[in-house]
Amino acid sequence: MARLGVRHMEHITMAHGAGGSIMAKFIKDYILRYLGGSKADVPLEALDDAAVVNDIVLKSDSYTVKPLFFPGGDIGRLAVSGTINDISVLGAQPAALTCGLILEEGLPLKDLERILLSMKETCEEADVYVITGDTKVVERGALGGCVINTSGIGFRTEATDHNLAVVKKYRPGFKASWILDSNLRARDKIIVSGTIGDHGLAVLSAQEGLSFGSEIKSDVRPLNKLVQRLLEVGGITAMKDPTRGGLSNALNEFCEKSNVGILIHEDRIPMKEDVRIACEMLGIDPLEVGNEGKLVIGVIPEVAEEVLAALRGTEEGKEAEIVGEATEEFNMVVIQTVVGGKRVLMPPVGDPVPRIC
Ligand code: MG
Repeated sequence: MARLGVRHMEHITMAHGAGGSIMAKFIKDYILRYLGGSKADVPLEALDDAAVVNDIVLKSDSYTVKPLFFPGGDIGRLAVSGTINDISVLGAQPAALTCGLILEEGLPLKDLERILLSMKETCEEADVYVITGDTKVVERGALGGCVINTSGIGFRTEATDHNLAVVKKYRPGFKASWILDSNLRARDKIIVSGTIGDHGLAVLSAQEGLSFGSEIKSDVRPLNKLVQRLLEVGGITAMKDPTRGGLSNALNEFCEKSNVGILIHEDRIPMKEDVRIACEMLGIDPLEVGNEGKLVIGVIPEVAEEVLAALRGTEEGKEAEIVGEATEEFNMVVIQTVVGGKRVLMPPVGDPVPRIC
């Protein structure tokens, strides 16, 4: 059922928001068709984590996680971190956020206060603040309490330009002025900043009342300071936060937009044992599960070890690994499995866990 193409559907389904290939086709067929066509530096059509206009990085994102509170985080921390991270992965330092609250009639004020306090603490952690916003209330219904939209702008820093200078030193023809999904080239190394699948499994456990031995906690956190630290080392060509659709979706987006193949070694992908076992039990591919505090980084091979060392020197990057590299030998994402074979890692059709962000 989940494999039906968009053309067979006459109404919006959960799959249209699930971050997989159905959502990608929906965005091309509808959103880009009507809203595309700008002359922005990085336009809507790039479908990157954020856009760029007049050298300002701009991002808007809405958060619909169910339940509002889950192990390791809540919708407030998610709404601040998610938008900050999407701005950061282009190489920008976020400057400020907006916050649109859509509250459902009946939401306990103590829950709203808990969410706002969490947003405040996350803003302080990132040193990026909400400076304008809006509040609306709708009738009791299907929101599950509230939906939060945050938008944000970000600017180039000295570290942004230093990073690009390092890339150009090793790749003189490099033209891009931001870190984009389309910048990956053969031989670039692929780094994953930490364990995969934690967020999606934590939300799923809260949705279904499951427990997986020791508690699996969401990794949700703002990554702007970590990204700026990595840009000071330099040599990063492409970068994403592997949210909906997980690592699998992020790698396939690199592959499609950069027109290169990617070879990944399964045994090098950082993953908590509890997450691996829970995914096996539930029949979920952990590579398709969303993350909210991780980076997938394409980096010039000559400096990959330096970027890895910088990551490992931080709390949020201490389990980072070089998991593979870009190649001209094929034009898809291929995974070298633990048992020795190779298989194509197709982009996910939808998200195995709904409403996680
Ligand atoms: Mg993103």
